Formats: sequence, C-alpha cells, structure tokens
Amino acid sequence: MSKKEMEDKKRENTKKDTETHKKTVIPCPVCGKPLGEDNLPDIGGVIEERLCSEKDVRIVNSEVVLEYDFYHYRNEEEGVAMEDQHPLGSVIKIVFDSSGKCTAFDIVKVCPG
Ligand SMILES: [Zn+2]
Repeated sequence: MSKKEMEDKKRENTKKDTETHKKTVIPCPVCGKPLGEDNLPDIGGVIEERLCSEKDVRIVNSEVVLEYDFYHYRNEEEGVAMEDQHPLGSVIKIVFDSSGKCTAFDIVKVCPG
C-alpha cells in the first residue's frame, strides 16, 4: 500500500469517527421521537453563538455544566417541521482548555422544558 493510500484510509477512518459521533440520538422525553443533530444543541449554537460570542472573553481551564433551553421543532424521522413544537431543557457538560478552546461537549440530560 502506498503512503498516499494509507493517508486516504486514515482520513476515511477519521471521517467515520466524526460521523458516528454526530449521530447522537436521544429520545424526546415529551413525545418520544428521536432527537438528533437537527434538534439537539451543538457547539456552534451554544458556545459560539451564545456563551462565547464575545471574542475577547474566553472561559479557560474549566469544566462547566450548563442548562440550555431549546425547542423540539423538527421531526427528524420525516425531515419536516414538527406540528406540535414543544420546549425542552438540557444539561450540558463542557470543557475548555487553556486557550479557551472547547474540547468536550456532552449532553448529559434532556428533560421536558
Ligand atoms: Zn418531542
């Protein structure tokens, strides 16, 4: 196997890991439908747009637990908007390293809002 082929294979495995990780699915505590990446809070929405939207303020060397409210607004099985959207709450554990980079983002719990 050439070096390039090995690198391609490595890249493919990394991609697979990312995809697996993305497919976190939690059953909705209100309606029982699956909550996946369309609905669940993510780093972009929670940290970049809200918590750390001010670029000159950073949380460093910390593990924080957040409560975050969001809506079950999308039926992910059918790929359409939910007819009866309902509020949900979540508990998220986040870790920041010494440069303020988010190194862990774990949704610990989803509960009725
Ligand atoms: Zn729901």
